[in-house]
Amino acid sequence: MENANSAILTYHSIDESNSAISTSAHDFERQMDALAGSSAAVVPLGEVRDRPGSIALTFDDGFRNFRTAAAPVLERHKFSATVFIVSGFCGNNNRWPGQCRDVPELPLMDWDEVREISSRGFSVGAHTVHHPDLRALPESEALREMADCKAEIEQQLGGTVTQFAYPYGSVPAHVRPPFELACGTRLSYLRPGADAIDLPRIDAFYLRAGPSAGSLFSARAAAYFGGRAILRNLRQWLSQ
Ligand SMILES: [Zn+2]
Repeated sequence: MENANSAILTYHSIDESNSAISTSAHDFERQMDALAGSSAAVVPLGEVRDRPGSIALTFDDGFRNFRTAAAPVLERHKFSATVFIVSGFCGNNNRWPGQCRDVPELPLMDWDEVREISSRGFSVGAHTVHHPDLRALPESEALREMADCKAEIEQQLGGTVTQFAYPYGSVPAHVRPPFELACGTRLSYLRPGADAIDLPRIDAFYLRAGPSAGSLFSARAAAYFGGRAILRNLRQWLSQ
């Protein structure tokens, strides 16, 4: 039977720190090799909803190591990917207010580097200007964070930015993002008819001890992600 679900994978940084947002270069290469050897097609984010059984790759925050460590591996496999940029921190580092202390300080691509990866065929999406928790902002400020980021990327790169990722996966109630697609961090496969402005993703963190990237749609993987999602919801509920 054909698998009706698709999946969007979330990566952040390719580095050796073993932090919650980090994937080692070796693991990343292994995961991309596994995807290449699997029957699932790796497609651009804009196509993943229309291609059952496909996988899209996303990279949050715009780390410099996307260009140096991820892009060469992706290009070897001819895989597309979307990189979500924090426009107010381009060329700086990821120490925005509210950043978790356990996350290492890492450099972000500057605009020349963002332009370069765009010209190499990778999609550039928006991730706000300052990486705030949008749920904590008044509606007008939340909208400005999204719109100003979109405008800055469009001015720097030309073209139209249609894709967005919510910082911390926090989807603000009643605020409609000015994008065609917006990704959250809800742990789930992408099911047919998924809401285009609240797309679930599977964080690469769960591939460390869990299923192989090459068997994302197996029954074992589905059971693993389902169990992790329940634990995650429970933790969030308990911390409220
Ligand atoms: Zn982020």
